[in-house]
Amino acid sequence: MIIQLEKNLTAEQKAVLKDKLKDIKYTINEVKTQNGHYLIGIGKQEFDIRSIGTLPGIRDIHRVSDAFKLVSKKWKVEDTSIDLGDGIKIGSGQFTVMAGPCSIETEEQIDKTINHLLQNGVRIMRGGVYKPRSSPYSFRGLGIEGLKLWHQKARTAGIKIITEVMMTEQIDAMADYVDIFQVGARNSQNFNLLDALGKVDKPVLLKRGISGTLEELLQAAEYIFSNGNEKIMLCERGVRSYENAYRNMMDINGIALLKDKTHLPVIADPSHGIGLRRYVDKVALASIMAGADGIIMEVHEKPEKAFSDGQQTLSFPEAKRLYSRMNQSYRLRESFEMDLVQGLF
Ligand code: PEP
Ligand code: MN
Repeated sequence: MIIQLEKNLTAEQKAVLKDKLKDIKYTINEVKTQNGHYLIGIGKQEFDIRSIGTLPGIRDIHRVSDAFKLVSKKWKVEDTSIDLGDGIKIGSGQFTVMAGPCSIETEEQIDKTINHLLQNGVRIMRGGVYKPRSSPYSFRGLGIEGLKLWHQKARTAGIKIITEVMMTEQIDAMADYVDIFQVGARNSQNFNLLDALGKVDKPVLLKRGISGTLEELLQAAEYIFSNGNEKIMLCERGVRSYENAYRNMMDINGIALLKDKTHLPVIADPSHGIGLRRYVDKVALASIMAGADGIIMEVHEKPEKAFSDGQQTLSFPEAKRLYSRMNQSYRLRESFEMDLVQGLF
């Protein structure tokens, strides 16, 4: 059960409410976020929802029996929009592109990527400064100094930064230089990291775990939300499967389902999703048609020279073609959705 409290609820009103929930043997979790104040009740006993809903100090009450609650569409029907400032919003009818290299490598690479993004109207740059790598001998990123240099250049250009945070201890040092924290697939169920990101007032892009189910992804998002941060987007990046003809099995089905299950924006990562440059465009377009609110993709001036993930990284001309196709696809999807609403389909 989710109870949204009035902003001006008194201590007495809260105490009465908590007693009532204890009476019906519900455990209570209090959640305060940027936008709301909630009590999450967990229990099994049947009760008359009006006996609680009519108490003073309550704005809204709802039974949500799913394992995830505050991120559920059953609780909040309208799509969430995340505001990055400077007119950049994600979700709820906005199509977003985030593009950049797998890893931030050099000053020259940052400059070239920013130019490419500016020329194509892309406002958010991706790139890792802390890289999770299968081998400890592979390039593991430029770290905080690389992030500071990147930030200085991105700010000047009016570009926002999304980058991966790998551990709780990095959050404070990174926060001033990051617009969106990315949680990578390997950390999708690092609950300590999720708890800590819930206490930061910064958007988080949460990737699906390497073998994670959709419900696990939604529950991981619930960790962030229930710690106080509502600014979450989910990312489908493919899951490990028995198929070895490509890197991951991109779950296009999952995108369609997530859009039904949650009000959070859903971003697709076709680069890691298929892991092969020549098919990234097709997977990106399919993701949009399935309902994605945005695409995060790897681009590099010289993909064959990239320090990581070159095999799935688009060159600037390839990316340019895809940006325009993606915009067309998004508009087509919007027109399909409009037809559905109007009963023309
Ligand atoms: C990345 O975005 O470069 C990355 C490492 O992604 P994932 O966590 O999805 O593997
Ligand atoms: Mn990568």
